[in-house]
Amino acid sequence: MKSGWFMENNDSPGEPPYDVIIVGAGPAGLSAALTISYFQLRFMVLEAGAAGGALMQNYPWKHVDSYLGFPNLDGRQAANLMVSHVRKEGVEIRENEPVQDIKRNRKNHDLLRLVTNKGEYLTRSVIIATGTIGTPRRLGVPGEELKGIKYAIEDPNLYSGRNVLVVGGGDSAVENSLNLLDRGARVTLVHRRNELRACEEYKNRILKSPAQVIWNTELKGVSGNPRAEKATLVNKRTGEERLMPFSNIFIFIGYALETGWLKKIGLRMHGNCLRVNQGLMTNMKGVFAAGDIASDIKRIPQALAQGEKAAYSAYKYLKHPYWEKNGSGRRIKLPWPHKHFNKKKKNKL
Ligand SMILES: Cc1cc2nc3c(=O)[nH]c(=O)nc-3n(C[C@H](O)[C@H](O)[C@H](O)COP(=O)(O)OP(=O)(O)OC[C@H]3O[C@@H](n4cnc5c(N)ncnc54)[C@H](O)[C@@H]3O)c2cc1C
Repeated sequence: MKSGWFMENNDSPGEPPYDVIIVGAGPAGLSAALTISYFQLRFMVLEAGAAGGALMQNYPWKHVDSYLGFPNLDGRQAANLMVSHVRKEGVEIRENEPVQDIKRNRKNHDLLRLVTNKGEYLTRSVIIATGTIGTPRRLGVPGEELKGIKYAIEDPNLYSGRNVLVVGGGDSAVENSLNLLDRGARVTLVHRRNELRACEEYKNRILKSPAQVIWNTELKGVSGNPRAEKATLVNKRTGEERLMPFSNIFIFIGYALETGWLKKIGLRMHGNCLRVNQGLMTNMKGVFAAGDIASDIKRIPQALAQGEKAAYSAYKYLKHPYWEKNGSGRRIKLPWPHKHFNKKKKNKL
């Protein structure tokens, strides 16, 4: 791969570096892109899959709540509105191009080198908006690889009249169960504890619904050939086992986030969140973060707000505008995180 001022992919050699590259085209990345488009900087968005983030990839059919002013949208409609709005402003979104590495440029330390599956790009700043969805967790039980076992619902209408098993007790297990019920499926929800972890609204709705909830029980294995047909369920308290037939099995026990590359490049994390300062800059100078990856509150409004804030911070970092200065004419500085973090663990890149 070439380095220095050369770029691979669609960029011509000798082009100036980008001012900002946004990693991830979910609500946070798209909101950052919209804000930056008004600043007339050289920037683009790199997206590992299809633009639209979790709304498009994880719940295209589900009703979206908490999106002020848009009470009747499903995930796909909301994602399409966001993506088309941003594209209308001329924003370039490169899909199917996951970022795999970020390095500081050897010759010019103010520049960052972004490595993707298709090439490398030089940029003066980065906004990481990769979300925390990652990949769905597997149970690791025998038979889990059989056809008919799923970790997401592409279209709940397909399960009308079917007898389905849902494994899990959190928001996504219960919310998906409610959606399957609404579309006419017969739902059995299996949870390994005696209480659901889902929010009160979902809890109340599922407990009043015709779904059968089996408490203190785990899925021990699945059998069938070639499709999953039967589930072996075991009661954790009594050890009692039962074999039950199902046409489909959905496993919603959370997601495993791929944070390896973020940690490898020296970004500091707590749990599955990147550590950021008030201006949403990480411990790496010029690298900002927004949305689920930078926040305890993992909701669309928060992601939109943080995307905008990270964009402003990147702009201020790059341009030092006059309005960033206080009354005395001195620039207002946000504390960089490295002042709070352990100074010994400096960015190694
Ligand atoms: C089932 C479910 C239902 C939900 N329902 C609601 C709801 O009704 N209302 C609400 O407010 N919130 C809801 N949420 C939460 C909401 O979807 C998130 O808070 C929001 O999508 C976060 O936006 P984001 O941009 O930070 O991340 P995401 O939407 O997750 O987008 C991140 C994007 O980054 C991309 N990406 C990841 N890694 C890379 C990489 N290395 N290189 C390039 N691109 C990368 C991903 O492909 C993805 O497109 C729900 C979440 C789930 C899982």
